[in-house]
Amino acid sequence: MSTETSSVSGSVEHNAVAPLVEVEHLTTTFKVRDAAGGSAGRLTAVDDISFAVRAGETLGLVGESGSGKSTTGRSILQLDRPASGSVRFDGVELTGLGHRELVEMRRRMQMVFQDPFTSLNPRMTIGSIVGDSLLAHGMSSKSERADRVGDLLAMVGLNPAWHVRYPHELSGGQRQRVGIARAIAVQPDFIVADEPVSALDVSVQAQTINLFESLQDELGLAYLFIAHDLAVVRHLSDRVAVMYLGKIVEIADNDDLYGSPAHPYTHSLMSAVPIPDPTIERNRERIVLTGDVPSPLNPPSGCRFRTRCWKADDRCAAEAPPLVAVSIGHHVACHYPEA
Ligand code: ADP
Ligand code: MG
Repeated sequence: MSTETSSVSGSVEHNAVAPLVEVEHLTTTFKVRDAAGGSAGRLTAVDDISFAVRAGETLGLVGESGSGKSTTGRSILQLDRPASGSVRFDGVELTGLGHRELVEMRRRMQMVFQDPFTSLNPRMTIGSIVGDSLLAHGMSSKSERADRVGDLLAMVGLNPAWHVRYPHELSGGQRQRVGIARAIAVQPDFIVADEPVSALDVSVQAQTINLFESLQDELGLAYLFIAHDLAVVRHLSDRVAVMYLGKIVEIADNDDLYGSPAHPYTHSLMSAVPIPDPTIERNRERIVLTGDVPSPLNPPSGCRFRTRCWKADDRCAAEAPPLVAVSIGHHVACHYPEA
């Protein structure tokens, strides 16, 4: 999409186009309290991460619960304010912007939330949930809004006549479609989809993922698509980033990540993904991680994954591995990456 608009000279290469979203050295911390309500210090939820999302692209973001995925998405949208680092959207630095300046930028960046039961106001009709974002972004005519809401409901595969219904009258999958209609209503360029199918039945997950894909084709959207397992993002993503305890440990094109995962943590996540072929499934090695994810309040020294890694040695405790290229576009943060 921006490829066209920026190709004024007609000769701009795709990879010469600046990314839509550029995240550099992003760090987001939270104040935490102990049981008595006193300060227990600061927790680093996202620790010095960098990546980019191009216009029209899907970057999958995976990792266990607590790894900092939601905070990453929320920090891009400035819903959580970063402690340091940079977030540029279409060339505009967002971290220093005030509330009012963010309103216009937010039209272009929307969010779809994990839980379609709590993310919709139960007292509002579907029509007003979707229409309110249009009103907030300047569509003051009621009849124009009603028309547009009808179009949007149809676009997400819901009956336009349902604009009078309330969220509790809909199934989980239908509610998530309302959340998607609300997000695309204001014609954004970028959507953070935060585990949008995790709360849905398996049978509904695939349909919802297909909807995200067809809307992307139709509208040229870019997604940061968050999931806790690799199976969900495989089909949808152009590239995938893997997070562990606030760090990106691996990022690569889809084929490279699934075909030759380099970080032991990615390997362990991959071994949890079922393979449809029963013979391969029966014979393959399964990696089961031992121990819990350490607390981000007190992360391990050096490599954060070392306390659960079968390859870890003294070097891993002493030195944090930087994220380095193992091939073009494939970066991994490990002293002993898989071949
Ligand atoms: P994920 O989405 O990968 O499950 P989150 O980004 O939600 O991870 O959380 C990362 C870490 O930050 C967790 O340890 C979580 O408890 C903590 N955290 C997230 N939001 C807040 C907050 N508002 N206040 C305090 N701690 C938070
Ligand atoms: Mg989350």
